[in-house]
Amino acid sequence: MPSKNVLDDFHMFSWSATTNNSFRRKGHNSGYYQISSQSFISLFADSHLGASQSSIQHCRVFITSSNLSSETMEPDEKENGVEEKSDTIEETVLCVDDWRQRWEEKRIGFHQTTVHELLVEYKDRLLAGREHIKIFFPLCGKSVDMKWVYDLGHDVVGVEASKIGITEFFEESSLEYTVEPLTTITGNCYKSTDGRVQIYECDLFDFNKDLAGQFDAIWDRGAMVAINKDQRKSYTSLLKTLMAPGCHTLLCTLFYDATIWPGPPHVVPHSEVYDIYGDKCTVEKLCTVDVFEEKHKSWGITGMDESLFVISVK
Ligand code: SAH
Repeated sequence: MPSKNVLDDFHMFSWSATTNNSFRRKGHNSGYYQISSQSFISLFADSHLGASQSSIQHCRVFITSSNLSSETMEPDEKENGVEEKSDTIEETVLCVDDWRQRWEEKRIGFHQTTVHELLVEYKDRLLAGREHIKIFFPLCGKSVDMKWVYDLGHDVVGVEASKIGITEFFEESSLEYTVEPLTTITGNCYKSTDGRVQIYECDLFDFNKDLAGQFDAIWDRGAMVAINKDQRKSYTSLLKTLMAPGCHTLLCTLFYDATIWPGPPHVVPHSEVYDIYGDKCTVEKLCTVDVFEEKHKSWGITGMDESLFVISVK
């Protein structure tokens, strides 16, 4: 596992200085890990050397492997004999109807009116020099990214639960379309008259490769981060079945302090990307950019990073 993976995860937890010359960070469930200043410095230095394990737990591995275990606190333990009240926030869990409701109420803050900058910058990693390929957009909303790749000459297949999102996409892109009910699962297929854009109005978890085959490329922006965390494994299992040989996926993940904002969008730890795609794919992180905006202040957070990964079938 690459050392930068370790480094990323180390940074994923915010450590804060305490009054007694030590540092602490929140555990994965509740409670805190606490270590001395000196240990913190060596932990930090070690992480830069990348000398550790790849798993999400590796901060703890670091501590124990450096004989610092006496200074750690397990989650749920008391600090100085005082019960720590965990302020870990529960993740928001949404069902398909909740998303449809959001579209009804026009609560679609995730929608961007311009093509995603990282798609433009890294399009060559998605297309890999290929012309007229078939690109999949899971949980597509009415993303203008679809129209952009369509205009580049590629075929587009999207999946979206909201009829409003799909019809707005066709209307705002000035594309004529037809609608046909699906026969094997519940839903409809919206198709541009030239057949080069197909958007399936259905639950993504009903979608399968018998409907539109496999894909040469996948653009995952606002998809993996949108689904509930307990569906992440099913989601990536499904996506793997949809990857044609030679398929490249560009995946956008987000990182912010998830103890403050319950999502969506949800934080996806970098180690999880390597873990869940690593069996079938090579995973490479391309960049991390600051995407914190004024509107995020109302969530109570003070920073947000977006990372882009390229995931390629081995
Ligand atoms: N990728 C888009 C939209 C991101 S928001 C963009 O970048 O703008 C997530 C979208 O997924 C919403 O439009 C929501 O309606 C849709 N969605 C959420 N869960 C879904 C599911 N299980 N099946 C199909 N669509 C879903």
